[in-house]
Formats: sequence, C-alpha cells, structure tokens
Amino acid sequence: MAEMRRRKTVTATIGGVRVGSDAPIMVQSMTNTDTADIPGTIKQVAALSKAGSEVVRVTVNNDDAAKAVPYIVEGLDKLGIHVPIVGDFHYNGHQLLIKYPGCAEGLAKYRINPGNVSIGRKNDDNFRTMVEVAVKHQKPVRIGVNWGSLDQSLLTRMMDENSRLPEPKDAREVTMEAMVVSALKSAKLAEQYGLRPDQIILSAKVSGVQDLIDVYRSLAGRCEYPLHLGLTEAGMGAKGIVASSAALGVLLQEGIGDTIRVSLTPAPGGDRTEEVRVAQQILQSLGIRSFTPQVTACPGCGRTTSTFFQEMAQQIQDYLREQMPTWKERYTGVEEMKVAVMGCVVNGPGESKHASLGISLPGTFEEPKAPVYVDGRLFTTLKGDKIVAEFIKILDDYVDSHYAAREAVWAR
Ligand code: SF4
Repeated sequence: MAEMRRRKTVTATIGGVRVGSDAPIMVQSMTNTDTADIPGTIKQVAALSKAGSEVVRVTVNNDDAAKAVPYIVEGLDKLGIHVPIVGDFHYNGHQLLIKYPGCAEGLAKYRINPGNVSIGRKNDDNFRTMVEVAVKHQKPVRIGVNWGSLDQSLLTRMMDENSRLPEPKDAREVTMEAMVVSALKSAKLAEQYGLRPDQIILSAKVSGVQDLIDVYRSLAGRCEYPLHLGLTEAGMGAKGIVASSAALGVLLQEGIGDTIRVSLTPAPGGDRTEEVRVAQQILQSLGIRSFTPQVTACPGCGRTTSTFFQEMAQQIQDYLREQMPTWKERYTGVEEMKVAVMGCVVNGPGESKHASLGISLPGTFEEPKAPVYVDGRLFTTLKGDKIVAEFIKILDDYVDSHYAAREAVWAR
C-alpha cells in the first residue's frame, strides 16, 4: 500500500468501528429507500453492506422513519449484518430523537446539519437537544455542513463583515469560509453541550471539485476532528464518478479524509451499490486500501478487431467480484492480486509479466495462441475455444497456492 502521511486526528468510533487517526479510511453509503419501508430498507442496507459499505446512513425524516429504525437494526441483526446505521436528521431531528428513544439508541451515529437544525430560531436549543441525546446515548455525531443548506444567518453576517473590509474578498471565498466556520463553531458548541472531541466527525460538502478541495484543506488545517469526505450531489454516471474521483483523489493524496462517500445519482432503477464500488476503487487506485483483485485490460485498438479480449476481461472481472466474498473468508491478501487481460503481443506479454497473473490474447493476424504468465514468468500457452475456462482454473489454483488460508495464518 502507498505510504501516505495521514492528517493527525483524534480517533472516533461508529458502532464499534474506528474512524480517523491510523484507522483504515472508511467507505460509507446511504440508502434511497423510504426508511419507513422496513423490508425495503433492510434489503438495501444488506446489499450496500455486502458490497463493502462499512457504515450505512438512512434518512430519519418523520415519525414513521424514526419508529422503523429499531426494527431495521433488529432485522439486519437477524440476518447477521452488523453494519452501523447512521441517522440523517434535518429540521425535526430534535423532536424525533426525544420522541423515539428506540431510534436514538438503535442508531450508531447522528448526522446533524447545522444549517437547518435551528432555522427560524434565535437560539440553538434544537442543536443542543440533539447533542444532549447523543451524550445520553453515548453516540458520536457528524456535523455535516452542506452549502445547499448553509446557515444563512452566519453567511449573511460574514458577507456583511466582508463588505466593510477595505478590500473585500469575493463571494465564493466568503461562502467557503462560512462553511468552515459553521462546522468548527458547531463542533465547539457540541463540546460545550457535553460531547467529547472523539465523538465528533466533521464534513463540509459542496458540489464543485475545486471548492471541495479548498474547503477541506482549510478545515483540515484548523481542527483535529476526523473528516468525512464527499462531493455532494456529484451527479450521474461518468460525470459523478470522475468529479468525485478528482476531488477525493487530491484530498486523500494530501492525507485529508477519514471516511468517504461517493454521492452518485443512480439511473432510474439503477444499482445503489455502485457508489460503494466507486468509493472502494478510488481508495484502491490511490494504493490506500485494497478491496478486490484488480484487472488490467488494454483499451484495444486496430491490432485486435475481435471483441474476445473485452469479453474475457469482463468475465474475469465479474468472476473476481463474485468470488471475493468467499475468498475473503478463506484467503489472506487475495484482494491485492493483479490480473492482466491484454489484446495483442505489443503490450500483452510485458503487462502480463507485471501482473500476478496475465494472459496475452492473439491480435489480428497473430498465431491463435495465448501465453499465460504467472508471477512474471511464462507459465503455459492456451489455445482453442476453452481459453476462458482454462485461465480461470489457473487463476483458482494461483489463489489457492499463493494466499495462505486464514486458519493457517492464525495457527502460526
Ligand atoms: S495491447 Fe495490443 S490490442 Fe491492446 S491496445 Fe496495445 S496494441 Fe492495441
């Protein structure tokens, strides 16, 4: 794994899982079901957890959602799924947490948005109530500022103060600073109301890549709370994935960020777990954590007009993903394996030699044979129409012989 200097933080714990300091950077996600739909929410949380989400957030927006929380936690427990469930509160969190103690106790963390917890009020009683519930149940909170719901009275005051400066800053700069101030002020208030610093996680989400980088750099330099990273409203498909990767990549490389979420908008009927896989891939591409064996495949070009190598790369990728839940139980370090599936002789043997296991398929006009490399050496040459099945057999044997069984490691 890459040697990175993580920013120094206190260590928080969410439902028994450590966050911050030297703990692995955590992957989070959020459901998009109606939380009051207990079976539907359990099903989606289970899918997100199975995909690798280490914490799952659900919205707690009304009485029915708050009532559902303990049943969701219990239902997951019965399925053997113990992923911490975080409650996302806006506007009425103070009422719901008081009215439904089962919800307050069942959740592993509360997300409080300081921008809308005290809307229309002159005091911070609502915020204080939520923090006091957290103290009573000994739950951590994430103070999650979002520029779409930034504390307007704070922003107005800071804009006014800025306008009186001899050389006023531009509005963007003031807004970014207001995000940071809102997060830090709320955190200090939470401490005054009884939370320990190691029960506080901060986030300050915006939807622009450069804005996010600026805000988090500023926040990171001014506190030691663990930070939750995410580009809010990242968007759909390639746009959301690329924008999130660009923003999070820069910050993670600088050692900033202790938990991450990729807020992708799924296509209608799309797969919610995609956001988990993208978050994992960001961490794995940066060499920070490994989750699944990686397939290196060439993009293809005019030297291979067949689609066989693309299909094979897809089949191998799918096979690895399907096997990982079982392999994780049986083998140690298998997630660091690298497999190359290449389209022709130009880069095929070279790339394959750099992988744990690689196959160089024949390009157009090449002899119909596919050399297979294992740990940099030519292992065998495959031919005929069973290349995929034979390669998968070699792959299985490689996993079995190269990644010690967990039992064997424990027994040492
Ligand atoms: S390995 Fe061969 S087929 Fe693949 S991109 Fe390179 S030259 Fe083209």
